[in-house]
Amino acid sequence: MKIGIVGTGMVGSAAGYAMALLGVGTEIVLVDANPALALAQAQDIAHATPFATTVAIHAGDYADLKDAAVVIIAAGVSQKPGESRLALLGRNVEVFRSVIGGIMRAAPDAILLIATNPLDVMTFIAQRISGLPPERVIGSGTILDTARLRTLLGDHLGIAPNSVHAYILGEHGDSEVAVWSSAMAGSVPIVSFAEQIGCPLDEATRGRIADEVKGAAYTIIEGKGATWYGIGAGLARIVQSITDDERTVLSVSQVNEDIEGIKDVPLSLPRIVGREGIIATLMPDLDASERAALKRSAEVISGFSSKLEF
Ligand code: ADP
Repeated sequence: MKIGIVGTGMVGSAAGYAMALLGVGTEIVLVDANPALALAQAQDIAHATPFATTVAIHAGDYADLKDAAVVIIAAGVSQKPGESRLALLGRNVEVFRSVIGGIMRAAPDAILLIATNPLDVMTFIAQRISGLPPERVIGSGTILDTARLRTLLGDHLGIAPNSVHAYILGEHGDSEVAVWSSAMAGSVPIVSFAEQIGCPLDEATRGRIADEVKGAAYTIIEGKGATWYGIGAGLARIVQSITDDERTVLSVSQVNEDIEGIKDVPLSLPRIVGREGIIATLMPDLDASERAALKRSAEVISGFSSKLEF
């Protein structure tokens, strides 16, 4: 199965590398406005595959995306000194117009997987420009924030992160929401689990863990300028769930009809991901404060997405 990646900077190339090592898809095509970069990334990653899998990876142009099942979009421009977030968004709308035009001409049946920040707003832009149904335009959303939460909770409880069932929902950004009220460890409500094994999850500890999840990207950016390995692996995981029709439940972004009265807002909720894209969305049980926080998160995103004109 062919997978495309448009934008082969740090995030796009990390996704390609993760897919090549994990054996996701059979062919990966890298496209970038800078063809020399796409070629260099493809060659570098191709030289790793003899140690791992038989995935074929090469650089190409939009025509080479023909029949791709999924195309990851990690293209974008970064903020100029003094540039407002809205002005940056305007420039990235133009990038997405050209990128999505190229993809849709070559691979009109592809599922789009968005990785460009600000993630939720860019997912909205991609859906509007492509005109595809919302369930075929997926944003990587809070998949990584959720992975960080599960890892920190696993560490706190001394259990494997995959035994922790807890989500970060809402914006992939500062207004994200840690959902504690329905979080489980094994099949036991997580606060009760924590009490039973003598590692209480009181309010202060929950707050500290949620803050650590929120601050993770800032800490990494301080040390190395940007983040790419974690999100690269997260993107590979989403693609795998699509290509293998796994129907795994992942916290990813999509344009929602209505969140707490806010219309047409993109944000993350737990969703079943398979061959057709997002097959279903689950609304977890939320307590009053989580519901209010999700509404606030929707308002923050809508504050940007509703100002954009197409
Ligand atoms: P990140 O850290 O998010 O990956 P980078 O700046 O490393 O950010 O990568 C963004 C990539 O997007 C760059 O390689 C850039 O050339 C590419 N890009 C920007 N505009 C376009 C465009 N219109 N079409 C294709 N690729 C683009």
